[in-house]
Amino acid sequence: MVAGGRLAECEDVEITGTAQHEAWQSRAVPPVEQLRDGLWSIPVPMLGPLRYVNVHAFALDGGGLGLIDAGWESDEGWTALTDGLAAIGGGVEDVRGVLVTHLHFDHLGLAERVRQASGAWVAMHPADAAVVASPSHRDAAAFAAAEVEFLVSLGADRDDAVSDVGPVERLMPFTRMAVPDRLLEDGDLADLPGWSLRAVHTPGHTPGHLCFAEERSGLLFSGDHVLPRITPNISTSFDGLADPLRDYLTALGRVGAAEPDEVLPAHEWRFRGLAERTAAIAAHHEHRLAELLDAVRAHPHSTPWELAASLTWSRPWAEYERRMRIFAVTETDAHLRLLASRGLVTTNGGTAPTWSLAVR
Ligand SMILES: [Zn+2]
Repeated sequence: MVAGGRLAECEDVEITGTAQHEAWQSRAVPPVEQLRDGLWSIPVPMLGPLRYVNVHAFALDGGGLGLIDAGWESDEGWTALTDGLAAIGGGVEDVRGVLVTHLHFDHLGLAERVRQASGAWVAMHPADAAVVASPSHRDAAAFAAAEVEFLVSLGADRDDAVSDVGPVERLMPFTRMAVPDRLLEDGDLADLPGWSLRAVHTPGHTPGHLCFAEERSGLLFSGDHVLPRITPNISTSFDGLADPLRDYLTALGRVGAAEPDEVLPAHEWRFRGLAERTAAIAAHHEHRLAELLDAVRAHPHSTPWELAASLTWSRPWAEYERRMRIFAVTETDAHLRLLASRGLVTTNGGTAPTWSLAVR
């Protein structure tokens, strides 16, 4: 999932997915589209402000279909996916393999149903596979407990943390997602005959996020790593990266140096102008880092929870609660960790560490 709160609009991006963009503006789900010979996008509806995830389907040499991402797990999502596959002349039983960009529910969610219906393999980067298979991701109570402790360590009042994490039952679907049966490392070619899809490890949004570069057509499937309108949520978690924003910005620079013919993100719309877009996202984070550094200067000895409350958000902080507040606080923590890596802030240690400017 990505947080849809803050925008980093970029006028330099050329919108190529015009039907997707028009659907977005009219608050609809876009149509199934043929993008190239043997390549289609199938929008699968999801909860939340992004409204849909773009599943990409590939006709394979020798028959069958491959997918990038499977979609949000729900009956409505399943219907959209199976109807979409029927519309392109196939069916879910034709799916041979599912490449999953990352472990979030809107991407991996439906993979288990696809695998059961078709016998397809499911492939991910080992770092995300390890998270999905870990005990706290197979057990909702363990997940909730770990998340509460993590929020408390960021300065949350325990009652606030418990209410933000919410009832354990609501986390159950997340613990039933497919554990992949194939792994893809950076640089590996995916096993989709007729296509040359190379995995590009782009950690940050999750530890094992993958983009896929299609080398014959010059397309980049960017997952949630690069989106045309919003910046993906980069946050810390109880089992995430130590400095996710540093890793994200490094991966952004690496991907931004390529010049794909078109970028096919997992949300919003296809576009051209990757270098401009990655530069705008990086600039957005530098702006945010500067704002946070000012907040630490103004409020020394503060927890990430306290600092998040002093930043500007897309709506008044007092209205933030539940998942949105978790996103905001863990995103603030990610920015603090990068400021610490740069030697600009320091923490006092302890169980709920506070942050202050580094003495230089
Ligand atoms: Zn997503």
